[in-house]
Amino acid sequence: MNEVFDVVVAGGAAIGSSVAYQLAADPGFKGRILVLEPDPGYERAASARSAASIRQQFSAPVNVKLSLYGIEFLRDLGARLSVDGERPDIGLREGGYLFMATSSGEAVLRENHALQISLGADIAFFDRAGLAAKFPWLATDDLVAGTWGRTGEGWFDGYGLVQALRRKARTLGVEYRKAALAGIDMKGDRATALRLSDGTAISAGHVVLAAGTGTREIVRAIGFDIPVHAKKRFVFTFECRTRIDGVPLTIDPSGVYFRPEGEGFIGGTVPPEDKDPDVAPDDFEVDYDFFDEYVWPALAARVPAFEAIKRGRAWAGHYDMNMFDANALIGFVPGTANVLLANGFSGHGLQQSPGVGRGLAELIRHGKYTTLDLGDLSPARLLTGAKMLEKNVV
Ligand SMILES: Cc1cc2nc3c(=O)[nH]c(=O)nc-3n(C[C@H](O)[C@H](O)[C@H](O)COP(=O)(O)OP(=O)(O)OC[C@H]3O[C@@H](n4cnc5c(N)ncnc54)[C@H](O)[C@@H]3O)c2cc1C
Repeated sequence: MNEVFDVVVAGGAAIGSSVAYQLAADPGFKGRILVLEPDPGYERAASARSAASIRQQFSAPVNVKLSLYGIEFLRDLGARLSVDGERPDIGLREGGYLFMATSSGEAVLRENHALQISLGADIAFFDRAGLAAKFPWLATDDLVAGTWGRTGEGWFDGYGLVQALRRKARTLGVEYRKAALAGIDMKGDRATALRLSDGTAISAGHVVLAAGTGTREIVRAIGFDIPVHAKKRFVFTFECRTRIDGVPLTIDPSGVYFRPEGEGFIGGTVPPEDKDPDVAPDDFEVDYDFFDEYVWPALAARVPAFEAIKRGRAWAGHYDMNMFDANALIGFVPGTANVLLANGFSGHGLQQSPGVGRGLAELIRHGKYTTLDLGDLSPARLLTGAKMLEKNVV
């Protein structure tokens, strides 16, 4: 007889641990939860290799709403996730995001800004003179406008978030096991048995697939494919000789981003499409020339003080990139009654982990969303072809 759990979560990083925590923290849920995590040090997890930033400046309402809840959760994290009176600290800094537009991007920037503030995000709009006054270190000649998060946007310790969620989940009774989900036996529309990498088989009332770039393989094996591809992204650290203060997470119109980190900065960009192949699971090698070719020129053009910077260390992480519409796939795997998907975050999953965890916990507990409706992110859209477009993908 297989060991039986009410919920098994495959993947115990930000998303998986958030689902487990949100369920376990629900006083009405009395079930047994198991999290399968083959890499408990999170050596390869995107959650531990990200730029760990949160913004409200999206163009899709559901993404804005997810981040509004995300920031509320992060601000209150010490109290929510305290264990034996010890409050975790993820060093949240609300330094804001700065999006900028040249004349060709102005209409979209205005449209996005109107949506964001209508939903309650605290985003300021600047014309060029306003940008130059607020951010005197910025080259503004080619810009017509910019938007900046006064509050509610910033950065934090992503690895710390995972550890805090995991630790709290465990104290609430969630079990973690060092194993991978290797296969799912289906009977009709239900997962009946789960095969683990250690050779055991278990049963679950619900299965949540939150295995990052390892998810596609699991879903495919039960007959549903998701266009989620692993893409390598670099994060470079650098120091600037001149001290510049008050730098937000700045997104140049070219796509290059940078933000403060400790005494220096981190930054990066998305490679051109023809130089962005799928990456092998064990390839975390950094291409340092990428910085010189694609990142530094835009940095130096946007911030004159960045002409004299010293590049430091760098690392690579893997995006779970949804090639269909660059947005998360959240909800039941089409054709199944008890297999849930949380994947395809396309570079913005860490900030969405609180809201996605809460949403999936609601789906499991109540069969529907009871707070924020994540229906727009349902994987069913892969079947209808209706894209959930997000204009602000970084
Ligand atoms: C360079 C970079 C920068 C980023 N910057 C940001 C940012 O600023 N803000 C933001 O919000 N997001 C950012 N992201 C995206 C964010 O990191 C991810 O969307 C988020 O961490 C995804 O969390 P996850 O738990 O789904 O996946 P992961 O963190 O990848 O974790 C998946 C886990 O599943 C486990 N696993 C794999 N296969 C199996 C299996 N078969 N069975 C069980 N477990 C398995 C893995 O060991 C892993 O621990 C960035 C990502 C990268 C790579």
